[in-house]
Amino acid sequence: MTAILDQTCAPLARVSGCDLRVPLVQGGTRVYANFDYAASAPALAQVTDRLTELLPFYASVHRGAGYASRISTDCYESSRDSVARFLNCADDQVVVFTRNTTDSLNLLASCVPGDTVVLDIEHHANFLPWTRHGRRVVPAADTVEETVRRVVAELCAKPAALLAITGASNVTGEVLPLERLATIAHQCGARILVDAAQLAPHRRIDLQALDIDYLAFSGHKLYAPFGAGVLVGRRDWLDAAQPYLAGGGAVKEVGTTETEWACAPQRHEAGSPNVLGVAALAAACDALGALDERTAIEHERRLADRLRAGLEAIAGVRFLRIWPDSADSVGIVAFTLNGFEPGRVAAYLSAEHAIGVRDGRFCAHPLLARLGVDGALRASIGLGSSAADVDRLIEAIATLVERGPQWNYTRTDGQWNPAPETRPRLAPESGAGAAPCSF
Ligand code: PMP
Repeated sequence: MTAILDQTCAPLARVSGCDLRVPLVQGGTRVYANFDYAASAPALAQVTDRLTELLPFYASVHRGAGYASRISTDCYESSRDSVARFLNCADDQVVVFTRNTTDSLNLLASCVPGDTVVLDIEHHANFLPWTRHGRRVVPAADTVEETVRRVVAELCAKPAALLAITGASNVTGEVLPLERLATIAHQCGARILVDAAQLAPHRRIDLQALDIDYLAFSGHKLYAPFGAGVLVGRRDWLDAAQPYLAGGGAVKEVGTTETEWACAPQRHEAGSPNVLGVAALAAACDALGALDERTAIEHERRLADRLRAGLEAIAGVRFLRIWPDSADSVGIVAFTLNGFEPGRVAAYLSAEHAIGVRDGRFCAHPLLARLGVDGALRASIGLGSSAADVDRLIEAIATLVERGPQWNYTRTDGQWNPAPETRPRLAPESGAGAAPCSF
């Protein structure tokens, strides 16, 4: 991975789609500026290279005797080592491959032997699965300090099996004090799960140093968008629980009346696994693990600071933030623009400037409610982002405030679209490469 970091803040890594040209509503095309890494990140070059290398060897895993099967099996199983290295897992922690963070959290929810404590700032994926298993919701306070005190009070008042907490908010990017929360959870007799969907792509996480029991993340947010996710965690709960899915691969022996289930991770991986998705995820872990962390953080911080400073100077911009005292945040900037509906702004940025952002409530309805907004814009930054992209976004927002949109937009079925829509919407034809259509 080439580490380029100069005053202009060039991209730090090569990612898919970095030279993608997309159509503009007023005609012509422009290189796409992607500010939606927090939703799904493009693939790292190392990931696509690895898949290209592996694809000819793709075959059934675990039971095939053919050479390609053996290679695929080795690759699938050694991917656990890549994840374990990336997270510095402890010896009693197993790596279970899932579809995504949501899948991982639902899996763990089916294994927890007691109540789970959560904050009300969580993504729905770390909020809804616990409902069926004794969920206790702690309302976040106005400061991180007071929020931590509330968590302590809840865990002390009544025993809980698990504290399930986000590593970084998917709305504001704010990072929670995980080491402290892990100590608190353990002192109160609970374990800690970290929803690292947003943290893992931005920060190295050392499970042993932080003393974290369980952690979940998605490949598609970690530059490996091929349908695999991870649940890492302590073996005992995973071995004691019912298998997540019943089927082949999760068993040792099956009779007509009795079944002897395998231990984790196989216990929770019934069915044919997503070998290529898992290999992609492992390649991303290897690539990110090899990247100099300080350089990556500095790249992201410079771009996020530049974006905030540029937006701050525009009348009507209000940033979303949960706490004034959060010590760190990843490259996510959420904001509203006075007098402009977020969905309309997002449609304008896409149609007139070829800029992709996310708008809405970000699958965090309780948090948006406590922040007092029913929608916002979210610009998120990653390894392929550059200062030039940031400047384009700032300029586009400034132009909108000054002159208004230069096109008409209407809302249909809750979504804002240009009216008329002139951009072709057909998927690129097979083999068309980076240029989606010939316009
Ligand atoms: N947790 C957080 C913090 C997230 O940002 C997301 C995705 N937006 C999820 C969980 C769910 O991830 P996935 O959709 O990959 O399951």
